[in-house]
Amino acid sequence: MIGSGFAGLSVATNLAKEGFQVEIFEKNSMPGGRAQQFQAEGFTFDMGPSWYWMPDVFDAYFAHFGKKVSDYYELDRLDPSYSVFFDGGKRMDVPADFDAFCQMFESYEKGSSEGLKRFLAEAQYKYEVGMNDLVYKPGLKLSEFADWRVISGAFRLQLFSSLASHVRKYISNPYLLQLLEFPVLFLGAMPSKTPALYSLMNYADIKLGTWYPRGGMYKIVEGMARLAGEIGVRINCGAAVEEIVLDRGHATGVRVNGNFHGADVVVSAADYHHTEQKLLPTSYRNYSEKYWESRTMAPSSLLYYVGLNRKLDGLEHHNLFFDQDFLKHAEEIYEKPAWPANPLFYVSVTSKTDLSSAPEGCENLFILIPTAPGLLDTPEIKEHYFQLVMDRLEGILEQSIRKNVTFRRDFACTDFMSTYNSFKGNAYGLANTLMQTAILKPSIKNKRIDNLYYTGQLTVPGPGVPPSLISGRVVADEICKKFQ
Ligand SMILES: Cc1cc2nc3c(=O)[nH]c(=O)nc-3n(C[C@H](O)[C@H](O)[C@H](O)COP(=O)(O)OP(=O)(O)OC[C@H]3O[C@@H](n4cnc5c(N)ncnc54)[C@H](O)[C@@H]3O)c2cc1C
Repeated sequence: MIGSGFAGLSVATNLAKEGFQVEIFEKNSMPGGRAQQFQAEGFTFDMGPSWYWMPDVFDAYFAHFGKKVSDYYELDRLDPSYSVFFDGGKRMDVPADFDAFCQMFESYEKGSSEGLKRFLAEAQYKYEVGMNDLVYKPGLKLSEFADWRVISGAFRLQLFSSLASHVRKYISNPYLLQLLEFPVLFLGAMPSKTPALYSLMNYADIKLGTWYPRGGMYKIVEGMARLAGEIGVRINCGAAVEEIVLDRGHATGVRVNGNFHGADVVVSAADYHHTEQKLLPTSYRNYSEKYWESRTMAPSSLLYYVGLNRKLDGLEHHNLFFDQDFLKHAEEIYEKPAWPANPLFYVSVTSKTDLSSAPEGCENLFILIPTAPGLLDTPEIKEHYFQLVMDRLEGILEQSIRKNVTFRRDFACTDFMSTYNSFKGNAYGLANTLMQTAILKPSIKNKRIDNLYYTGQLTVPGPGVPPSLISGRVVADEICKKFQ
């Protein structure tokens, strides 16, 4: 196994459960991949994911091993789920309770809660079909989808219309539209390029809720790593794989720090592009560099991990700053890649709910600006955007912040490349556009090597923590079918 992100831990545990002896080689010093954590000056920062959505997927993962989430970590539902700051000082605190959520819609657009309920009924259907059937398909051949509830329901699933046009059938208020469109930004593409199928994300957001594992997102990694240990998986950190060793069309193992480790099956949970372009000879790759250049990658991110020596007023655990032109920033990410003039950004203040993440009386800030993949950062660029975010935050919250910064670490495109071997510094894989869905995603199986598989956010079902857990299960099932 190469890599110990969520997909790597998932495939490893699923295979160990079926009796395989599994050994993971991870280049970094701790498991978790993009969900690593670090401590500094009394602060604990989750480095990547911060939104715990789709709790049912985590429940199902642990239940497969006869366990419960609560055997490994405690969850709290956040209320408000998150806050959104719009232009002109408008602020929306999104309530967890559905009746209160409907009332909030009514206060922005009279009668809109009826449209919302119809929209969510469709979204629930998509969630149920999507999460029970669609995401567990290995995406190897079209016939997998032939018997799927679909063909009859294809129109209802709305693969061929865009989310942007779909939401406009139900709602017209611009603030409510932004609220319903933002979740698909997690999938790495514009609402106008994302199939309306993904309104299932709105169901996840509004009905299933936003949760937080006490102690941080890294608790999930620790839980999975503990489970892995309990069922015999060995995790070797600081162990970068340098080569997948081949004997004609067969992988015999991997080379790590010059040493050969034999294996009957090799699974790579590292970024797909890196696995193919760096660990395999050209003639054994599924895809060429030209193929990768033609893909739509999800954004990279400019991240700031910030410690403040005082408490802030006016922020919640999750805060979205949509106070600038949404489409202009999206264009700078997807259409004409450039450093954004006035970006939207996101701030997570974990210390609002988790006192363990910051010293007493202090605040823990995680700031994220989505940026186009492949835009190489410099110290000057990082400083510019830090000051820009501080200006905006100080203006909106009407309090001084930057003079209270006692800790700051920046992380950007070049760090994604060096830390995770990420193609173009992508933060979360391939965008979920129609042309990059299901069988149109990079295949989980190498076509020329009979025992080499791929898992993770660059293959099926796609980006995000829950899909990465599912990706590991799907690949493990395929391996079991062939090798057990
Ligand atoms: C900033 C950020 C915010 C995000 N926010 C959210 C969120 O709020 N909610 C959500 O659900 N998702 C979120 N995501 C997406 C989510 O984190 C990812 O989709 C998921 O963690 C990907 O898991 P993975 O296992 O596919 O890949 P990774 O986590 O990248 O794991 C791949 C592993 O392979 C290792 N590796 C690479 N090359 C080698 C090699 N040669 N040898 C050995 N090991 C190697 C890497 O070090 C890494 O540990 C976010 C991602 C980022 C970056």
